[in-house]
Amino acid sequence: MTARIIDGKALSKQLREGFKARVATLVEQGVTPGLAVILVGDNPASRVYVGNKVKACEECGVRSFHIALPSDTPQAEVLATIARLNADPAVHGILIQLPLPHIDGRSVLEAISVHKDVDGFHLYNVGGLVVGNTIFPPCTPYGVQLLLDTTGTDVAGKNVVVVGASNIVGKPMALMLLQREATVTICHARTRDLAQHTILADILIVAAGRPGLIVPQMVKQGAIVIDVGINRLPDGKIVGDVDFEGVKEKASWITPVPGGVGPMTVTMLIENTLRSAERALHVPGSEDYQDWEAPVLKGA
Ligand code: NAP
Repeated sequence: MTARIIDGKALSKQLREGFKARVATLVEQGVTPGLAVILVGDNPASRVYVGNKVKACEECGVRSFHIALPSDTPQAEVLATIARLNADPAVHGILIQLPLPHIDGRSVLEAISVHKDVDGFHLYNVGGLVVGNTIFPPCTPYGVQLLLDTTGTDVAGKNVVVVGASNIVGKPMALMLLQREATVTICHARTRDLAQHTILADILIVAAGRPGLIVPQMVKQGAIVIDVGINRLPDGKIVGDVDFEGVKEKASWITPVPGGVGPMTVTMLIENTLRSAERALHVPGSEDYQDWEAPVLKGA
């Protein structure tokens, strides 16, 4: 069997086309969706990620506010910047690029208004995942969920194995698929005999940041394999965590790297920003908006 490719680049393009009509509708109603991206310091990788986000905003008609702060910015000043953006009605989403130098990331994330937390990292949104009712699902797992949908697979009752248990990918991914009634196993660096778990997966999602971690012997015939990993090899080549060439001969569907999950992450960030702008329209002065009911994960 040679796997069919789950094309994240194509899905991303299609979704972004759809965003244009939503932006036009918002603009007609006097709202231009806006995303503020805060970068503290000059980490080169972070600068590239922020650049990609700003570019994607422009492409989709979303106004971007790029706030670059020097690496020695005191925590109080970062918090004051967030407070200003929380109160600014032109800003519908606030994102702070991680990692942060010398600053307590958790307290900064908690300072972002829940209504503008388009990365989905605020504790409210994290907790919302546990009960299956979050406002803004975190972008990478949200993108994976849509990629899985393109295969036409009902995940209910399937064995899903998530390799990687980080707060931004592995854990929320597992919770989102549990909500869809999959039987979910989470593996991490301390998991003994990883293959013993992965071989049982109908759906295998890998987010470990370890090139070549998943080889064909670890994959069940016909499994769907989603590779979240992004690793730069010494020769500059970008690869995932899965031995793509080998595993594609066993899987039924597989994501490539690049061109799989990567493009979806930024696309879902724009999706969350548009949803935030749409929510703001319903209740003037979105900071007072107390309707927490946004079951986007239910049957999304
Ligand atoms: P992270 O915070 O470093 O977490 C990695 C997770 O993988 C941890 O839970 C770790 O276990 C686990 N792990 C490490 N080595 C392992 C092994 N040998 N076997 C099993 N589990 C192992 O990384 P992350 O932020 O979640 O990102 C993971 C990968 O996805 C990276 O390559 C990153 O670049 C990529 N990524 C891609 C996107 C995208 O848009 N495509 C977005 C975010 C991240 P412990 O918890 O035990 O340490």
